[in-house]
Amino acid sequence: MSQYVKDLMAEVKAKNPAEPEFHQAVQEVAESLALVLDRHPEYRAAKILERIIEPERIITFRVPWVDDQGEVHVNRGFRIEMNSAIGPYKGGLRFHPSVNQGILKFLAFEQVFKNSLTTLPMGGGKGGSDFDPKGKSDLKIMRFCQAFMSELFRHIGPDTDVPAGDIGVGGREIGYLFGQYKKLRNEFTGVLTGKGLNWGGSLIRPEATGYGAVYFAAEMLATKKQTLEGKVCLVSGSGNVAQYTVEKINQLGGKAVTLSDSNGYIYDEAGIDNDKLAFVMELKNVRRGRIKEYAEKYKSAVYTELNQNMEYNPLWNHKAQCAFPSATQNEINAKDAQNLVKNGVYVVSEGANMPTTIDGVKVFLDSKILYGPGKAANAGGVATSGLEMSQNSMRLPWTREEVDNRLHMIMKSIHKTCVDIADRFGTPGNYVNGANIGGFLKVADAMIDQGVV
Ligand code: NDP
Repeated sequence: MSQYVKDLMAEVKAKNPAEPEFHQAVQEVAESLALVLDRHPEYRAAKILERIIEPERIITFRVPWVDDQGEVHVNRGFRIEMNSAIGPYKGGLRFHPSVNQGILKFLAFEQVFKNSLTTLPMGGGKGGSDFDPKGKSDLKIMRFCQAFMSELFRHIGPDTDVPAGDIGVGGREIGYLFGQYKKLRNEFTGVLTGKGLNWGGSLIRPEATGYGAVYFAAEMLATKKQTLEGKVCLVSGSGNVAQYTVEKINQLGGKAVTLSDSNGYIYDEAGIDNDKLAFVMELKNVRRGRIKEYAEKYKSAVYTELNQNMEYNPLWNHKAQCAFPSATQNEINAKDAQNLVKNGVYVVSEGANMPTTIDGVKVFLDSKILYGPGKAANAGGVATSGLEMSQNSMRLPWTREEVDNRLHMIMKSIHKTCVDIADRFGTPGNYVNGANIGGFLKVADAMIDQGVV
């Protein structure tokens, strides 16, 4: 670690105590940016990185709500408005009991670079609540979403800040949030993305993050003149990103063999074909059940309960060529990364945000595998949210093919940016540097153009 990064990290830790995920995200970016700051003293003089690290605004609010039994609950709501140099704040909302300010700051920070990479005019933001939607009735979810939006509505708008979904926030939640925003503002605008198709949503938005992560893997493989055909793929999670990752893997001739949730994972050596995937979608999106049921239905599958005391996750310890972590942050540690490489995995495309620890990333980089970090590999979701915003502004929907083609082109463009920038800064094949520096340059130049604000 250079002296510059050491000093910066000491300051970040002192100013933002008890936010380990935020420290991790900043450190990873700062290590890449040391290469740029050496060549461009103007960025250092304008304190661009120091300014990017400090959110433009953090909104924290109380979310009181009454459940269907009349019991009163109090949750905490957040919106981190991180950077608006290249467009309105844009980024998802996460509802999960682990949510706190540090986690949302790491996500908002990553979002700034990711959104810049998409080529679309979107700044970075993130928000959410420590509310746990798991096992709750639709009525409870609606009441919570309405209470959450009753405060958030005054801070967002189609040209100011445009939230979307993330963990625990899917189509159902976006519907309830949008309904409440519309009622309070008396305005029908594209203030949220991930909307239903009948009321301003975009085709392909639900599929976009998973599809994009697989397109990104296909681009990385193409640099070795290979395709996904016949490749065995490990996928974690079983939510939005994981489901459409499996769908696209199947379309491109690969074979997905794992899925997980926070209780455990299934390994199906025969492959999760389209019929089995339809079962998973019904299980997770309609019945809202646990992945364990997959192994009860399909005898080719084995279910393993998650054991928090193990030093590695057995999901990442199967023979395969590709891995698509699609659940949550820090789900691959150094031991998992070693297991992946040892078992033959040479393509990792991150659907989740920061799923690999810093030590795990080092294992991937040292082994020179094709490693696509989340900022680049999962940018298809927010890119298609950007396309939803364009369609909302034009008041004209595009066809499925049109949106999918644009998504595919954007993923190719992000891949090319990563490769070109990694080469330009003397680290060929290093997609981490490519994504961090590629995302940074556009935002940094915009910040210089706009003065010290
Ligand atoms: P979902 O809520 O649809 O699914 C999340 C999945 O991950 C579930 O299977 C969930 O299991 C599992 N999971 C969540 N938290 C944990 C945990 N702490 N430990 C183990 N498993 C966990 O979310 P998404 O699919 O939308 O998001 C998945 C990842 O992708 C996140 O990192 C998100 O930030 C990232 N992402 C999502 C985008 C999107 O468009 N949705 C865009 C870009 C990135 P369980 O149900 O048991 O909690």
